[in-house]
Amino acid sequence: MRVVISGIPGVGKSTILDLVSKKSDYRIINFGSLMFDIAKKETSINSRDDMRKLDIETQKHIQRLTSNELGTMNNIIIDTHMSIKSPSGYFPGLPEWVLHELNVSSFFLIESKPEEIKKRRDSDKTRSRDSDTVEDIREHQEINRYYAAAYSVYSGATVNFICNQEGNPEIAADNIVMRLDYATETTTK
Ligand code: AMP
Ligand code: MG
Repeated sequence: MRVVISGIPGVGKSTILDLVSKKSDYRIINFGSLMFDIAKKETSINSRDDMRKLDIETQKHIQRLTSNELGTMNNIIIDTHMSIKSPSGYFPGLPEWVLHELNVSSFFLIESKPEEIKKRRDSDKTRSRDSDTVEDIREHQEINRYYAAAYSVYSGATVNFICNQEGNPEIAADNIVMRLDYATETTTK
């Protein structure tokens, strides 16, 4: 089984996934890391935060190569994005050919208050985050719900919205693990 866990940059996804990985047998694979390994061979970029600024055809090409690789792995949680904010607009993280390749059972969207995301982004010096306003962040989270619904209709996979409350990532992680356990039980029966 494969599931997708997403959340916009700064939502606290990495923290939650660290907790999930301790409580679950699923292997967590970061789409962006795999894609960056491929991008380093195929393009001249040397920062993962430059991938979303590549021209869309190049992004699609390396996105496809990444999904081909992921399509061979089983029992994984794919850490990725519903949409990526590129200079030419929102770019789907899971266009039809990626969905087809990955054949996921469930989508999880981690969400948080836009004000908290903004605060986390401003204090993260390790990444080159976009200088989005609170309103931009609100829009991106809202758009991602539409993308998730579209992916669900296309693939038949379920969608789960997970709230990351400030200071309580364990609650979100436990919620995800509970739903994963349920999905595993019902798929193996
Ligand atoms: P992350 O570290 O998870 O924020 O991902 C780093 C970068 O990987 C993103 O900014 C995107 O450029 C790229 N990326 C991740 N997932 C996808 C995807 N499903 N489709 C296209 N690009 C992706
Ligand atoms: Mg992260």
